[in-house]
Amino acid sequence: MPPPSLCGKGKTMSKNFAVAIDGPSGAGKSTIARTCAQTLGFLYVDTGAIYRTVGLAALRRGLDSHDKGAVLAILPELNIELSHAADGLQHMMLDGEDVTAEIRRPEVSLAASAVSAYPEVRAFLMELQRSLARTHTVIMDGRDIGTVVLPDAPLKIFLTASAEARAKRRWKELKEKGREQPFEEVLREMELRDKNDSERAAAPLKAAEDAVLLDTTALDFQQSCEAVMKLIRERWTP
Ligand code: C5P
Repeated sequence: MPPPSLCGKGKTMSKNFAVAIDGPSGAGKSTIARTCAQTLGFLYVDTGAIYRTVGLAALRRGLDSHDKGAVLAILPELNIELSHAADGLQHMMLDGEDVTAEIRRPEVSLAASAVSAYPEVRAFLMELQRSLARTHTVIMDGRDIGTVVLPDAPLKIFLTASAEARAKRRWKELKEKGREQPFEEVLREMELRDKNDSERAAAPLKAAEDAVLLDTTALDFQQSCEAVMKLIRERWTP
């Protein structure tokens, strides 16, 4: 896989500060992390988008994402790249095509959840994630950033909210993008992904022992961002 291409975001220093944000789907990790990263000039890395791109690659090849052998067989031929736009938005490229919008489709969410359960897929994507944190000051979000990918990150946050609150946010987000889906279906898919992500053997979703727990059920977006910014400012000296 070629090295990630980036566009001047994040500072490059010998020992970079890193913020690891983990939590279940729909907790607001990506929007909060991206906004904070932009305010601070950090590089925002959305690792879920990377797993989604592998899920999309499997779907595009007509594979059943639960067929582990078939999914692992395509890994060596995958050409996955990421780049960052000036607004901090992370773009995912698959075989030279920008798939940033397509990886948000609900069927890709489920495929991503399935392929991410394979330890070989996780190992395949590990170096890409670590190399970004070695070369940039990052806010990286995912499921196992504080526990596995960046266990030495100086700040780890476990961002969560009730399943209903998360499904409501996701439902609204889909609606705004013109992809309406019944709320019950969104909630069911969210619960299914929660179950897959937390019960899998490989890097299950769980808070690192030294993570700060942040429950955003009763917080709006602005309040959530402020809470994250406060934690960063307490630990990071520019
Ligand atoms: O965060 P997002 O919902 O985009 O992630 C898509 C899927 O990728 C998740 O359901 C999860 O199964 C998987 N994932 C993971 N480890 C990460 C990030 C995402 O297993 N670090």
